[in-house]
Amino acid sequence: MSDVLLRAGRVIDPSQGLDGVRDVLWRDGRIAALDTDLSTHPQARGVPVVEARGLVVTPGLLDIHVHFREPGQTAKENIVSGAECAARGGFTSVVCMPNTKPAIDDPAAVGLVRERARAACVRVFVTGAITKDIAGEELAPIGALHRAGVVAITDDGRCVQNADLMRRALEYSRMYGLTVMDHCQEYALVQEGVMHEGYWSTVLGLRGWPAVGEDAIVARNILLARMTGTPIHCQHISSRQSVELLRQARAEGVPITGEACPHHFTLTDAAVAGSDKFWPEDGASLFAARLMPEAERPRWPAYDTHFKMNPPLRSAADRAAVVEGIRDGTLDILSSDHAPHCNYEKDVEFDFAPFGILGLETELGISLTELYHAGHLPLPRLVELFTARPAALVSLKAEETGTSLGRIEVGGPADLTLIDVDREWTYDVKRTASKSANSPFHGWRLKGKAVATVCRGRVVWSEWDKLPTEAKP
Ligand SMILES: [Zn+2]
Repeated sequence: MSDVLLRAGRVIDPSQGLDGVRDVLWRDGRIAALDTDLSTHPQARGVPVVEARGLVVTPGLLDIHVHFREPGQTAKENIVSGAECAARGGFTSVVCMPNTKPAIDDPAAVGLVRERARAACVRVFVTGAITKDIAGEELAPIGALHRAGVVAITDDGRCVQNADLMRRALEYSRMYGLTVMDHCQEYALVQEGVMHEGYWSTVLGLRGWPAVGEDAIVARNILLARMTGTPIHCQHISSRQSVELLRQARAEGVPITGEACPHHFTLTDAAVAGSDKFWPEDGASLFAARLMPEAERPRWPAYDTHFKMNPPLRSAADRAAVVEGIRDGTLDILSSDHAPHCNYEKDVEFDFAPFGILGLETELGISLTELYHAGHLPLPRLVELFTARPAALVSLKAEETGTSLGRIEVGGPADLTLIDVDREWTYDVKRTASKSANSPFHGWRLKGKAVATVCRGRVVWSEWDKLPTEAKP
């Protein structure tokens, strides 16, 4: 079933201000028509008809921040398994971070990832490093990386400390129209911190990663973006002060953007102290908690390393500020920071475990639960944060059509996500497509999920019997 007439779904495409019941027809991997009634459309003749009433149909969702660990760490994940996670989560395009082993800091590494991406079931784009080996000392060959096909540069996982080097990176990338992203972490302030510095780090005796360590780099980036006139995208914003800095800078017209990850607007540092501390403290304000009677809520002990990520889970006030930043548009991109690690790496003392958690399979469900059902965002706005906004930041194009992703347009690729916004489901990490299982959301009850993912006109994942997954070629 490669050609489909999808009838009467609620089509939401924020790029064209569309939210209404429409038919969508795709043929040969491309959108052939989009209108209120395509039953008599000449191109629909002989095409299988699938009724989608009750489902939401959106442009294929984009996630511009994932770690697929290839090359070098394929025991954790590889491009094919990572792409499978993306498809299950409703994502048709993802952007990989360059902190692989070796780092993606030269054209050969870019070529390798792009070659491997051909075997993936969704579109996998790649970023290049800002500095050689992500060491923060010498610029990577930004022009050559651009020619090799990176869609942005970032030292994610690390942060360029030298402000002058960052300035040069901005000036070079500007010549190529290349997006610059930054993981905001001031090393001198963060030192060896492993969790948010505050009440719980003191109680638990863990070294603190203070919010000011993020804020200081966000402030620097605002100044550099203003000075150079070159946009900077601040990745995974977690602190209240960072949200405030970005809000003010954006109001003043500084070309700066920020993104938020589901764990930062759902969990707090109390989770590191264990479920008995987290649920009573913060559970009440979580929509997900309402879906889970107290006895059914997942339990975990203190020092569970599935709650260790970088930047760390922060205070309840920080979490509320991230939600407010999403509500008012200060943070207008959502991403997973999908960061797989093997069980043996995570199953150690909190201090020694690597930072990071899985994200692609739970990202949409958590966002629908905690932002849409909780009443913080209307649905079209939420869809925008997964489609039109990231597409405006990073130029992602369908190779076969040359058209921009993140929108549904006739002649463009048939990349679509079908969402049942009211379906309640429980995340079971034992059934993940990832090679890793490091999710703090195992056993969580969520409301809303992607039921089918279509990429290049192929159903790459489905749990909707009307549109079964197509056999792999
Ligand atoms: Zn990062």
